[in-house]
Amino acid sequence: MAKLEAPRKRPRLAVIKFASCDGCQLSILNLEEDLLALGEALDIAYFPEASSAMNAGPYDIALVEGSITTAEDAHRILSVRQQAKVLITIGACATAGGIQALRNWADVESFKRAVYPNPEYIQSLSTSTPISEHVRVDFELWGCPIDKGQLLRVMTDLVGGVQPRVPADSVCLECKRQGHVCVLVAKGLPCLGPVTRTGCGAICPSMGRDCYGCFGPSEGARKGPGLPPNTTSLARHFHDELQLIPVEVLRRFRGINGAVDPFRNESTVWENKG
Ligand code: SF4
Ligand code: SF4
Repeated sequence: MAKLEAPRKRPRLAVIKFASCDGCQLSILNLEEDLLALGEALDIAYFPEASSAMNAGPYDIALVEGSITTAEDAHRILSVRQQAKVLITIGACATAGGIQALRNWADVESFKRAVYPNPEYIQSLSTSTPISEHVRVDFELWGCPIDKGQLLRVMTDLVGGVQPRVPADSVCLECKRQGHVCVLVAKGLPCLGPVTRTGCGAICPSMGRDCYGCFGPSEGARKGPGLPPNTTSLARHFHDELQLIPVEVLRRFRGINGAVDPFRNESTVWENKG
């Protein structure tokens, strides 16, 4: 009689949300037929955006979207970390604090008073911080939102037992590989492509628009892997050659990923010149 093989145990996946717009979770749903393949390779145990069947941990992989903006979230992420073998942040909010980190330079209490008739009901921290400021993160996927192809590659690597890897060089390299006209040179637009991480496929320059840095800082172009890009030189070019005034230079760097080094450091330099 043929021997029955024990059913293969699929890794358990959780997709968990903190402060965010849900766009990165939608990128997972937008995998379409690849999502079915993912569902065969993984046991999607917890994904409230996709299913009301929410199974408790532990999980082999936790994809975490969103930043920490409340005391409750700061507590909840500790429990997520305890339950997850591998924790991956997805998107600018989870990886860098997101656009909501603009509050880090503002008076949140005055915002609450301006917007809400009963601000005392709003329980919010004065900062928005990335997940890595609270717990150990095993891998980061950048982008606002993340790139579906990069997500699929990382999940495939994990299922195959391979250390995931995505490129960290600049959008410029992808832009040149695709043969787009440089909008910085040809149109004088303040493109952040030279200091922004590749991954989107250079979408904005392909449409004749300047990159605004939604994939976060690139690595390695100047000194090697893991080292920051040359924001100083690009910012000086924006100011000296493109005639941006200091506050405009500041705003280029203080955007979706403005709370993360080296964009944060560069924007601070121009704050002091304003
Ligand atoms: S358009 Fe922007 S991303 Fe493309 S090469 Fe020029 S500076 Fe780089
Ligand atoms: S070109 Fe820049 S701003 Fe546009 S999608 Fe890519 S990383 Fe984001």
